[in-house]
Amino acid sequence: MRTREHDLYDVMADSKIAPDQIATDAIAERLADVRDRIAQACDRAGRSPDEITLVSVTKTFPLDAIEHARSLGLHDFGENKVQEMVAKAEEEPGELNGGTLRWHMIGHLQRNKAKDVVAHADLFHALDSPRLAKELNKRARKADRVMPCLVQVNVSGEDSKYGIHPDETHDYLDSLAQYPHLHILGLMTLAEPTEDPEDVRPQFRQMRRLAETYDATDNPRVEMRYLSMGMSGDFEVAVEEGATHLRLGTALFGPRSY
Ligand SMILES: *Cc1c(COP(=O)(O)O)cnc(C)c1O
Repeated sequence: MRTREHDLYDVMADSKIAPDQIATDAIAERLADVRDRIAQACDRAGRSPDEITLVSVTKTFPLDAIEHARSLGLHDFGENKVQEMVAKAEEEPGELNGGTLRWHMIGHLQRNKAKDVVAHADLFHALDSPRLAKELNKRARKADRVMPCLVQVNVSGEDSKYGIHPDETHDYLDSLAQYPHLHILGLMTLAEPTEDPEDVRPQFRQMRRLAETYDATDNPRVEMRYLSMGMSGDFEVAVEEGATHLRLGTALFGPRSY
């Protein structure tokens, strides 16, 4: 008896598409579209796409998705839960551990997991409290490492979001001068989810202003190079406002199951 699965494989055989290629093609198409939209946003802002790092957010997607994305030339991968990042990084290590991709830990981190980030992450995007900074510095010292970090800022003002209050961000950056095992490379934010990405432009603009107005001359730990902002729903506006790292999940891999 022929099943629907047989029919499906016949169709694939006819069109010379291997079963495992189908998802790749969808990712390839989405990636082409994303790159196009980034290029157009760069044009509007007088920027070069070379200034932008695309962080592929692979949370909930299996290693296969990462392999597909790598075959398409993607190099930077982000996870928001430390356990999931560790599990994937053990299979596919980041540059820190001799691999050829980079792992970005983009979600809130509990202090008792700081050592996992130190062990596996190439860049940590969510430094958001004095106590976490102290713990990360301690863990990084034990691992004989300087941990590259971004400070998360809560520009949307939502209670549900982590991050330093914008008015306290410069003081917080100053306070990090005491930690020789942290290297602060910029700021990160999650804008408020909205229908119209224009609504969050002021939040991205405020991030840029916070980065530009910080005087790091007396703070050897801080170098304001990166702005990690922009997700699937708002990345073009983020590019126009100066983002250097876009964190894209859905726009590349399609909807997540949770
Ligand atoms: C999931 C996640 C993203 C990506 O979200 P999409 O809307 O799927 O692009 C970006 N940043 C953080 C911190 C996330 O947790």
